[in-house]
Amino acid sequence: MIFAGIDIGSRAAKAVIMNDGEIIGSTIQDTGPESVKTAYATIEAAMQEPGITLNDIDYTVATGYGRVLVPFAAENVSEISCHARGINRYYPSVRTILDMGGQDCKAINCNEEGHVTNFVMNDKCAGGTGRFLEMIADVLNVQLEEIGELALTSFSEIPFNTICAVFAKSEAIVHLRHGVPKSDILAGLNEAISVRCHNLLKKVTIESDFTITGGIAKNTGMVDKITKKIGLEPLLAEDPQLIGALGAAIYAREKYLGKETGSDTRVQYGYNDATGDYYITINSVKCDGCGECITACPSSIYEIASDENGRSVAMVKETLRKKLSILCPGVGNCNGREKGNCQAVCPGQALTISW
Ligand code: SF4
Ligand code: SF4
Repeated sequence: MIFAGIDIGSRAAKAVIMNDGEIIGSTIQDTGPESVKTAYATIEAAMQEPGITLNDIDYTVATGYGRVLVPFAAENVSEISCHARGINRYYPSVRTILDMGGQDCKAINCNEEGHVTNFVMNDKCAGGTGRFLEMIADVLNVQLEEIGELALTSFSEIPFNTICAVFAKSEAIVHLRHGVPKSDILAGLNEAISVRCHNLLKKVTIESDFTITGGIAKNTGMVDKITKKIGLEPLLAEDPQLIGALGAAIYAREKYLGKETGSDTRVQYGYNDATGDYYITINSVKCDGCGECITACPSSIYEIASDENGRSVAMVKETLRKKLSILCPGVGNCNGREKGNCQAVCPGQALTISW
């Protein structure tokens, strides 16, 4: 039987096709302006190698930023779950994942079955993402694929005060004008990004084995810096950029065959910045989807939606995740609408707010 996973990311679209657990086709394409067209172009490219058509695929799961815009997918699953499941196929011993995507970075813990047990994401700032590195490569007039190796040739890296996309670009231009070698600029940026990644990883448990997924895992200079910063050699998949699509294909097979097991436990929404940590954590096992938090929240932060196992659970609305510090004063300062704030009314004690 044939199953497909498609991962429509913000910068790249990926697809993996499997025949009874074996990968028979895959592709990585640029994400175009229209998600539906991108989805069709991506699956068609992946189907070329095995010489099949959409009719031959028994079940497709979509993931990634544009996962809801894949017309031929039967279901969609979050990319966090897909990265955990995908890497588990290569390395079941991995417990910590750093997913470095086009637009955000995520730190994920998973168990021996590839189920997420905790995660945290930083999607507030573009610094350190694929988009950021594209911008820097452009400023330095270097091919994106070459910046990793070039950084490794640095003898005297330049310290960067920030990896804010706007200020880092300005700093890079100033250094370039002063004749600083491109390799030293790149090495300095990689160092700054590795510090940020380390801080993100400290919010979950840094446990071996460790891996990096996403397109940036192909950047040797970045991987070198992160390895030294974390003190753990990452186990890298053959193509770390395909891990999300691979996980989606594995989910497709399990869902079709009714073999899906396990569930995520804690899901964390929010970010940290110079003013503090803003994370809402929802324990998806304890949450029964009663909706009391929705009624309580004066800022309408929550919604009830299906998780990847089809259970109705509370989630923080995607559009509000970057504004939590503005919308929520924290439980200590919030009386909610009726009986109290979200944490006070939650019967299953499924909610934690960290500021
Ligand atoms: S503490 Fe108040 S504002 Fe913040 S999420 Fe809970 S109910 Fe909403
Ligand atoms: S109040 Fe608690 S148990 Fe009810 S939906 Fe919200 S988080 Fe889940």
